[in-house]
Amino acid sequence: MERIISAKPRAEDIVLDKGLRPKHLVDFVGQEKVKENLKIAMAAAQGRGETLDHILLYGPPGLGKTTLAYIIAAEMGVNIKITSGPAIERPGDIAAIITNLNKGDVLFIDEIHRLGRVVEEVLYPVMEDFALDIVMGKGAGARSLRLNLPRFTLVGATTRFALLSPPLRDRFGAVYRLDFYDQSAIEVILARSARLLGIEAEKRGLEEIAKRARGTPRVANRLLKRVRDYAQVKGKGVITEKIALEALGRLEIDTIGLDEIDHKILRIIIEKFNGGPVGLDTIAAAISEEADTIMDVYEPYLLQLSFMERTPRGRVATRFAYEHLELPYPRGKPDQPSLL
Ligand code: ADP
Repeated sequence: MERIISAKPRAEDIVLDKGLRPKHLVDFVGQEKVKENLKIAMAAAQGRGETLDHILLYGPPGLGKTTLAYIIAAEMGVNIKITSGPAIERPGDIAAIITNLNKGDVLFIDEIHRLGRVVEEVLYPVMEDFALDIVMGKGAGARSLRLNLPRFTLVGATTRFALLSPPLRDRFGAVYRLDFYDQSAIEVILARSARLLGIEAEKRGLEEIAKRARGTPRVANRLLKRVRDYAQVKGKGVITEKIALEALGRLEIDTIGLDEIDHKILRIIIEKFNGGPVGLDTIAAAISEEADTIMDVYEPYLLQLSFMERTPRGRVATRFAYEHLELPYPRGKPDQPSLL
């Protein structure tokens, strides 16, 4: 099935991302606290003529972690190298990257929680002392050589803060969490994207798109593109409220951006497990999805909506979820607040 809402990057996003990605902090909408802290940290480092401390960004996919890494490099006037946890398989891979960095450069490691343990251990002295320990030879005759590196800034990104080992976490000077964007921030992002893509759009049209964007800029931009196509073929090229509603109605998402998988997750908890608690792996098996995908992509938004709660005994569907799916909330269940 076509998964329009999955916040993970897809092929169609590559071109889209490039053109729409804000290049400077002033164009980066929302996340005010993160921006404010970053501004101070960058100004302080620049004032002292020093390299910026290592930064860890975490939060669900599509919220702007990669974008911020590019912005940090641009604002600091340095180069950026991009890689990811799964791409760095051996210590040699990371050594090849970091020995090519210049003073002040940014190294962005996406999905940093997926670094192997051996590579991670190579990183500790690199992050702390800017020293790369290279082992020459094998067995009893092995010697260790220490290579001094220019100071650089490691920007790590992760969707799973909890999976990061404490020694790695501790080596970041700053840790910032990105939150879902509120409706008005998404509308600003959509208006900016429409302008950049040369799309004529009415405010009401963009509002409808924003409602279904799951507080995620990547999803918002993707929906905008779909609605634009529809407006071009079925309308006069303008995104009006009517066109937006028609176009969005054809995508398999509901009025708040939930898709078939979200519905399945909630229905399994409610219908098969009487509202929960039920373990994540059980849910994953029941709907044939990977537990990781549920945790990264689906669950954060369901938690944000308060449709689901995480308890020590498993996931629980709340009264909000029952109401959204128009299912009766069982009598005798502990009373929860209602949206109605
Ligand atoms: P992540 O690395 O967290 O998965 P990205 O940085 O790749 O997310 O963001 C996905 C896309 O969403 C970007 O290409 C950009 O167009 C858009 N985007 C993200 N954050 C913002 C923002 N704060 N303002 C405007 N656009 C944004």
